[in-house]
Amino acid sequence: MGGRLLYGWDMSRRVLDALASARPAVSFEFFPPKDQAAEALLKARVDALGPLQPDFVSVTFGAGGGGGDRAEASIAATKAVGQVTLAARVAHLALAGQTVADLQRAAGWFLEAGVEGFMALRGDPPDGPGGAWVGHPGGLTYAVELVELLRQVTALPVGVAAFPHGHPTAPSLEIDARVLAAKQAAGADFAVTQVLFSAEAYRALLDRAERHGVTMPIVPGIMPITARSKVEKLELFSGAALPGPLAVALVKAGGVAGAQERVGLEWSVELVDQLLAEGAPGVHFYTLNSSEATQRICDTLGLRGALAGS
Ligand SMILES: Cc1cc2nc3c(=O)[nH]c(=O)nc-3n(C[C@H](O)[C@H](O)[C@H](O)COP(=O)(O)OP(=O)(O)OC[C@H]3O[C@@H](n4cnc5c(N)ncnc54)[C@H](O)[C@@H]3O)c2cc1C
Repeated sequence: MGGRLLYGWDMSRRVLDALASARPAVSFEFFPPKDQAAEALLKARVDALGPLQPDFVSVTFGAGGGGGDRAEASIAATKAVGQVTLAARVAHLALAGQTVADLQRAAGWFLEAGVEGFMALRGDPPDGPGGAWVGHPGGLTYAVELVELLRQVTALPVGVAAFPHGHPTAPSLEIDARVLAAKQAAGADFAVTQVLFSAEAYRALLDRAERHGVTMPIVPGIMPITARSKVEKLELFSGAALPGPLAVALVKAGGVAGAQERVGLEWSVELVDQLLAEGAPGVHFYTLNSSEATQRICDTLGLRGALAGS
């Protein structure tokens, strides 16, 4: 596929070039806003993160049914984000609740919207990642099949999910690593991890993946920690408990204004630093449509993406 040029960049290569570069790639994830006010806020947040010059930004895709509505919310948000950033936009596509035709249509809409890559995902059952999976009768079952589907319609980079603590329903960490290798064999170009709480878990994932022949870059996913209450749900999704010392420090910080945030951010900075020292190709921030915490971590570490011209 011939790459479209934007200010001299080949748009089909920006994501992979960033991940291959010696400088850590920086990416931010957002979710689709619920209404117009939330959309304006989202655009303001993306704009506020602009000085960090992210290599790519992505918008999640609601799973759990609703076919076109879910796709439309994600595509509308992806377009809105494109009005306030020059960063590459990576579309999330989740197969849960979608027919094959829905997925093909959504992929086409994303391509028309000018995305420069995809994340191919299954999506979670309505009661969370460990819940019973019920596929759509006209749909797909596993993310690996969505990678195959996307490979039929685009040569753009395709990313997939990776699980430092194993997917909650995977029978073992080794089978989980085999699934990751299958996604690569199906045509995936990179992986982004579920929220990470420790550099050791990342290192262990890399080791398992390597044993199973995975050579694609695996980007650690970080959620800036600003309060104990905000990470409780995360423990459920990531399958990992908060590291003991962090949990204790957050409790000790108590209700003093800003204290939990200070503890959480210092710890997040340390984690990102360790991950980069482990050779991570970049860092993917789950921003929760907020900008300040992500900005502070990047500023503290001097992290900047490609558009900064480094
Ligand atoms: C970076 C990132 C972004 C995400 N974005 C979104 C989003 O936008 N929208 C959303 O709804 N969710 C999103 N998720 C959540 C994700 O969809 C869930 O974690 C989901 O439960 C698993 O998705 P998957 O793509 O890894 O699925 P899969 O790879 O299909 O794995 C799901 C389960 O099936 C097993 N499995 C896979 N292939 C096979 C096989 N061939 N045979 C037997 N078992 C198999 C796996 O071991 C795992 O237990 C994201 C997750 C991450 C890490």
